[in-house]
Amino acid sequence: MRAMIDRGPTSGAPDWNTLGVALHCPRCGYDLRMLPQPRCPECGLQFEWAELITAVRTQNECPLFEYQWRRRPVRSFLRTVGRALLPWRLWSRMSLAWEPQVRPLFVLAAFMVLLFAVCSLGVEYARDACAAWQFTLLTGRAYPGPVWRPDLVAHVGEVTGHLLWALFVWGLLQIYQQTIAKYQLRQRQLLRVIVLAWVGLLAWQTVSRLTTTAFALYLALLHASRGTWYPLTWTREQVWTTLLPYVVFTLSLCLGLSTYLRIRRGWAMSLATMIIIVLALIAPVPAITVATGSPSNTWTRVLTSLWPGIEYVMEKVFVAW
Ligand SMILES: [Zn+2]
Repeated sequence: MRAMIDRGPTSGAPDWNTLGVALHCPRCGYDLRMLPQPRCPECGLQFEWAELITAVRTQNECPLFEYQWRRRPVRSFLRTVGRALLPWRLWSRMSLAWEPQVRPLFVLAAFMVLLFAVCSLGVEYARDACAAWQFTLLTGRAYPGPVWRPDLVAHVGEVTGHLLWALFVWGLLQIYQQTIAKYQLRQRQLLRVIVLAWVGLLAWQTVSRLTTTAFALYLALLHASRGTWYPLTWTREQVWTTLLPYVVFTLSLCLGLSTYLRIRRGWAMSLATMIIIVLALIAPVPAITVATGSPSNTWTRVLTSLWPGIEYVMEKVFVAW
């Protein structure tokens, strides 16, 4: 009778005597040994025995950076960034049974910052060089001053803004102590969700910057061939290059909590977190503007240096409102 339950088709519980791997609940880490049913008594997670065993056995073959960072750092980095760009694919393919690896997650974030910084500087150089070329072409004079004047303070401010954003999200998710306790969530799982969503945010910033710059350079060439000037400022593109990455980040956070961690109110939790952050940042703007009598005050200056482009978004929002 006992043997029938153990190998019964409904539960599919493994033969514990011959099973060579240790099985733990993928969400809360509870030891599943000798459990007759595929349901964690600690956090309530439903799972399939065969799926869990396969995931545990194949974890080290997973192509993500977390598992391949020592063996194939560049390839696994690019692959992970590629997946982070498309959150719905990232989280539907991510197995909860793949134990999050804290150290490579931080290395991944550092690599992403580096890639983002290099691309941002490159894009700035391309725009400055193109503006200088336009000037020489249209005026017949040499460009006065250096061609490239990198605004390093602005770049540092932007990276700081991104890091603060990740910290805000992590801090605000801690408010949901009841949910964290109910699902026995471990911090390393929240860390994985935040880091991968954040890598997606920076990747989208990088991609949107590269594509809009390529397009702007193309327009500049087109104008130059007609002997006219095309201003290479960011303003035209800033609204969507600022908004889109944050929309994708929010989506990734929602899917990470609901699809990957299987939290029932994952969507509500993520959306509320995003709304609180945005309101906390933007709500003081009209009040301080009224109080100081100028829209250019310390608060708005700090906001725009940390999240460049936010002024264009706010302008659109307040004008529409
Ligand atoms: Zn569990």
